[in-house]
Amino acid sequence: MPNWTREPPDHTILATLPILRAPTKPAIVGVITSYEMVGCNLHWYKGRSLPCEDRKCPACEMKIPWRWKGYLGFWQPAEAQHSLLEFPAAAADTIADFRSQHSTLRYAILELKRVPVKANGRVLARIKPGVTDYKIFPQAPDVEKILARIWDIPASIDPTQQKSRKALKIIARQNGFEQPELFPDATNTNN
Ligand SMILES: [Zn+2]
Repeated sequence: MPNWTREPPDHTILATLPILRAPTKPAIVGVITSYEMVGCNLHWYKGRSLPCEDRKCPACEMKIPWRWKGYLGFWQPAEAQHSLLEFPAAAADTIADFRSQHSTLRYAILELKRVPVKANGRVLARIKPGVTDYKIFPQAPDVEKILARIWDIPASIDPTQQKSRKALKIIARQNGFEQPELFPDATNTNN
């Protein structure tokens, strides 16, 4: 006899989200559900995206170039669609500027569009404060865990395990109101 439930399973089982990339047209508009952006350098390696490792990165050893990609939980109310929005460095500055002036990115309205409107057009971001009184609004996703599952890597979210860094990595906060530790443990060179 199955053990039926009338509730979703315990959320230690990770819910995943589809990745949404900047379109060619029209612009995409939605509401940010994350408190912070999360980004990292990615290689295209052996037919798949591989995040660049701080040390002993196999793709770096083969001199394969990398690109920074940022991620945010992204809610499109009209479609009732919650996605993981992937955006390039070109759009990240606008988002970071907004974050520096507000306590959180959550509930901000974000628009991405390509200029000119073609597949390799530069991705431009516009962002503004949004309302916070939605009847339904998704929880902030655990972006690092979701990406680790998509990329099939361990989720390295413990900053004490990261001894050196080539590029800025931002630690996502569940409560969203702490300044991220941009250079955690930078002086510790053990290991
Ligand atoms: Zn690398």
